[in-house]
Amino acid sequence: MAKFRLILGTRNSKKLSELQRLLAPYPHINLGCLADIPDSIEVEETGTTFEENAILKAAVQARHLRQWVLGEDSGISVDALGGAPGVYSARFSGDNATDESNNGMLLEKLAGIPMEKRTAWYTCHMALADPLGEIKFSCEARCYGRILTEQKGTGGFGYDPMFEIPEYHRTFGELGDTVKSILSHRARANRMFVPQLLALLKT
Ligand code: IMP
Repeated sequence: MAKFRLILGTRNSKKLSELQRLLAPYPHINLGCLADIPDSIEVEETGTTFEENAILKAAVQARHLRQWVLGEDSGISVDALGGAPGVYSARFSGDNATDESNNGMLLEKLAGIPMEKRTAWYTCHMALADPLGEIKFSCEARCYGRILTEQKGTGGFGYDPMFEIPEYHRTFGELGDTVKSILSHRARANRMFVPQLLALLKT
């Protein structure tokens, strides 16, 4: 089968390795990232929904590079914070935010909130743009859990050490890549994305 070159429209290396792992069963899909492309551009995430931002990242970058681009936007929403930080997850603690400062901010905002009210969910939206920047399809999935009062485990990235999957009594930080690649919002979105991509490649 002919190779299909797809560019992931983000510089987040953790997202890239998770998606490369998820796409490993489809070796003809060759996923590259913006870090490998010197003339890629920075697309501003001006949307107010995951869908808007994923579409922006895919369409604008694809039109610029004249290549197929997968736009991925994701984040965490916390019930007790009215769904925040949501699309602002990466910048929760400010412009120079790191995973550490974001996790600190989340713990601070949830101080004193009892366990039963610390429910949260991750969202992942994926949009595929063709080399003209036209969106061919997009899909979105969620993964539900709750925010612990301390970090546990070193796996995953971002909010993973605080995000517990209640059925497993473990955070994504503790559960590791294999379990995350089945249960996560990204894994679930990918399970919707791949059949549509394969169908498109057949046409
Ligand atoms: P984006 O680059 O705007 O999509 O930002 C996504 C942000 O959401 C990341 O920087 C993380 O803070 C958070 N996030 C998204 N997916 C995950 C995940 O799988 N684990 C932990 N944090 C995540």
